[in-house]
Amino acid sequence: MPIDELVPAACAQIPDFPQEGILFYDVTTLFANSVAFKRSIDELADRFEGTYDIVAGVEARGFLMAAALAYKTGKGVMTVRKAGKLPRETFQAEYTLEYGTAAIEIHKEDIPAGQRVLILDDILATGGTVEAAISLMEQAKLEVAGVGFLMELDGLGGRSKMGDHRVESLSLTT
Ligand code: IMP
Repeated sequence: MPIDELVPAACAQIPDFPQEGILFYDVTTLFANSVAFKRSIDELADRFEGTYDIVAGVEARGFLMAAALAYKTGKGVMTVRKAGKLPRETFQAEYTLEYGTAAIEIHKEDIPAGQRVLILDDILATGGTVEAAISLMEQAKLEVAGVGFLMELDGLGGRSKMGDHRVESLSLTT
């Protein structure tokens, strides 16, 4: 099965979660599926080969993707965390979610300026989360090598918030 069909097929789809009118794609079923998980990580590795020095994962599902890809390609992992979790000085960026608002953070000075960072998250919806992650990398003077997703929800305008950065989504769904 082609990857753009495999990814949505491997996700459970939950209507009206976490609130009415939202169709929630539950990627935990993809992570639990050894074939779909491996194919997804291998595909992201192929698409971004040679373009990055470190992999950033957005809390929490992005952590699983970033760790797997970084291990496979011999890179380190950077954790983009929800506000209030990191113990040292941070850069912070706020964003609006499909359902609510939040802020994310990275530690200051952990990664040397100029490193090329590949940002991973599970789903691109309105784009607010990864737009904030990009802003964190810019605050830290890191170069965004690209952004990668398992799934992109069409029609929510997320891609337009990624600026000129390279965007790779393994599947597109409505
Ligand atoms: P955005 O900021 O609107 O692009 O929303 C993306 C963030 O919300 C990602 O971190 C996703 O984990 C989460 N998200 C949005 N829609 C879904 C969904 O249908 N299933 C799972 N997570 C979602």
